[in-house]
Amino acid sequence: MATDYKKQDKELYQPGTEPSVVDVPEMTFIRVDGEGDPNDPEGEYATAVELLYALSYAIKMMPRSGETPEGYFEYVVPPLDGYWWVDDEPDSDFRDKSKYRWTAMLRQPEFVTPELFEKQIGGARIERAEGFGIFAEMVFDNGKRLSVGDGINLRLLTDDEVPKDYQLRLALSDGRNLVFTVAMYGGINIHEEGYFNKYNIASREALPPIGEGFDTVFRERLAESKPNLSAKAFLATEQRFPGIGNGCLQDILFAARIHPKRKVVTLSEDERAGLLTTIMEVLGEMTRLGGRDTEKDLLGNTGGYRTVMSKNTVLSPCAVCGSTIVKENYMGGSVYYCPGCQKMVE
Ligand SMILES: [Zn+2]
Repeated sequence: MATDYKKQDKELYQPGTEPSVVDVPEMTFIRVDGEGDPNDPEGEYATAVELLYALSYAIKMMPRSGETPEGYFEYVVPPLDGYWWVDDEPDSDFRDKSKYRWTAMLRQPEFVTPELFEKQIGGARIERAEGFGIFAEMVFDNGKRLSVGDGINLRLLTDDEVPKDYQLRLALSDGRNLVFTVAMYGGINIHEEGYFNKYNIASREALPPIGEGFDTVFRERLAESKPNLSAKAFLATEQRFPGIGNGCLQDILFAARIHPKRKVVTLSEDERAGLLTTIMEVLGEMTRLGGRDTEKDLLGNTGGYRTVMSKNTVLSPCAVCGSTIVKENYMGGSVYYCPGCQKMVE
């Protein structure tokens, strides 16, 4: 019979009405840290919960994709857990949910261990790396691929530099370490050729925005947009353009003079053409200059592209019109824009 943690650990999941002392055993969780109102349908919490369940079910279903981890057993995905708090400030107010900070977590069965990674690539040689869409993959000589997406930071560090907290460390034969850390959420997985994952496939098959034929893709996506789709959502959601994310869309929209919340149906023909041109130009510059100055490479160096709309420039005057650059939370992330240059049009 499938293990059901709610029944197995009754004293943890279905406590009695009398207060009592319980021993909580060591357990494995997948967790996401975040902040903001948990009831905001476009907020971080909704995204976090969706991600926790997606990962948990992907693990539970592993045998069906032909990869049964050692020690696997049938189980019921346990209930969601969480911690909630507000920062201890003089004006702390528990009624203001937008100030909530939280850790959302989902328990995993005992066979989910870091050794799952070690068994697959321990001792193997890294042959090459590939980048496509939102993914970067390391290809090993035993056919395994270590894949990381948006949100994972990679650093090449000596033993002394390895931080206390990290999600994965690869000890390399030259004595250095490749250390993977996650800021908010991101996935690290190992797979082989023929991996079936809709995001991975969409990224692999997508036409790069700075290559031939992208204008056709852009116009098709624009034509099929729903009336309430905003400019940010158009660029960064639904895998329309794998690789364009929250980090690069700020400067694209500024260059195109389009407000991030503006509905794409309100864009004029000229604005549409301008957006296409700026996507290619801005991404081209970011690529040519080795990434943005808000990101670091393997060695810890920031990129050479100076961001115009980012955490580095917020509250400073816009170079074009002098208006103060603003930051707002929108769709599970921050948007930075110039209210003078990027007017909202209803
Ligand atoms: Zn401006």
